[in-house]
Amino acid sequence: MALSFYNSLTKTVEPFVPLDTAGKHVGLYTCGPTVYNYAHIGNFRAYIFGDIVKRTLLHFGYSVNHVMNLTDVDDKIIRDVQTSGKSLEEFTQFYANAFKKDCGLLQILPPTHYTRAVEHIDDMVSLIETLLEKGFAYKSDDGSVYFDVRKDPQYGQLSALQISAQKTNAAGRISADEYEKDNVEDFALWKAWDEKDGDVFWNTSLGKGRPGWHIECSAMSMKYLGESFDIHTGGIDLVFPHHENEIAQSECATGKPFVKYWLHNEWLMVDGKKMSKSAGNFHTLNSLVEAGFDPLAFRLWVLSGHYRTQMNFTLEALTASGIALTRLRNHYRELADVDGALPDAKYLDMFSLCLSDDLNTPKALAVLWEVMKDDSLDGATKKATLRAFDSVLGLGLSTIHAESIPEEVLSLVTRREEARTQRDFALSDTLRTQISKLGYTVKDTDNGPKIFKM
Ligand SMILES: [Zn+2]
Repeated sequence: MALSFYNSLTKTVEPFVPLDTAGKHVGLYTCGPTVYNYAHIGNFRAYIFGDIVKRTLLHFGYSVNHVMNLTDVDDKIIRDVQTSGKSLEEFTQFYANAFKKDCGLLQILPPTHYTRAVEHIDDMVSLIETLLEKGFAYKSDDGSVYFDVRKDPQYGQLSALQISAQKTNAAGRISADEYEKDNVEDFALWKAWDEKDGDVFWNTSLGKGRPGWHIECSAMSMKYLGESFDIHTGGIDLVFPHHENEIAQSECATGKPFVKYWLHNEWLMVDGKKMSKSAGNFHTLNSLVEAGFDPLAFRLWVLSGHYRTQMNFTLEALTASGIALTRLRNHYRELADVDGALPDAKYLDMFSLCLSDDLNTPKALAVLWEVMKDDSLDGATKKATLRAFDSVLGLGLSTIHAESIPEEVLSLVTRREEARTQRDFALSDTLRTQISKLGYTVKDTDNGPKIFKM
């Protein structure tokens, strides 16, 4: 069974063929958060999507080198750090920690490398030096360095924009930077220090200043994944200018194709509108948790839509996902656990087929619900099948068994083990009876006692 993805670069669904000639190793980059605030649920749709890409690759037998950056210096951070009374490091570390905690709650697997921009300034400077040497970049009067989009005939390949049509699209970000530039489309690679930057600057061969946002991802992705790598993921809002600029900088510097497959998830709307603080429809994961929702109900809700469709988030929809998740967990908890049980081959195939078809998680979930309802499967097979699905879906099923055994039962099992070691079989039997009165049974195996719900 071959994987296929919709590639935003070619605008078609393509079979996935990794650059690794042996076909087993995959390089994956996900644009991480800008750590100046809590990530919102729209951001987390993108990170759950990146996680599904990765878990699907693992499910199909690939090894994945996954890099996610933490943007810990950019315009927004500099704006907010000044009023925070904290150092850049303290300020960004707080939100980086909050982000990692939220990812944990959402069962998003940690990347192989979390890369912080401030720890890679030298890599960014050397990439900018290369672009200056090759004539793709120029220094402006104030010492900032800009990428000259007119020198790159491929510019616009991802977002399918014509240079002349870009003015209005690009103008927002570039004018917000308030730096001198020859063309409105040219974007900053290096920003010379000015007083608004306060004590946030680096003294480098390019002068005193800081990197632009786009160059951060080019430098860090190529450092850990090579000049060409397989997959880059992100939200559709990053296509222009961020990803377009990443491609331009990287390909002009190396002369090689940067990324083979670009995968973008669509927008998350809230109550039919774009989420914003001013519209009063802004949610962070924490605000949902405080309102009593399970983080994994949000994950299940995200997976119920295809990543290339816009989704409309409502609290009613989240409530329904929470109910479905509870039903799944309760069903799973009641299934017998038998060592060595294997997933049902037919259902596992159906599930893998859905994922192979451009990551169709709604269809994969439909297979999951079908397995749950199928009474012809024996409990152990059903449990093994659901567990195999969960290695991709990440709904936390594998942790349920351990969680569901009450302390009282665990302590009786420990006492029974002690009794058995001392060959006090009368006490051991009494304890077993007490355990069974609580609804559990103990099986002695070569690897110690196993506890099952009766
Ligand atoms: Zn990025």
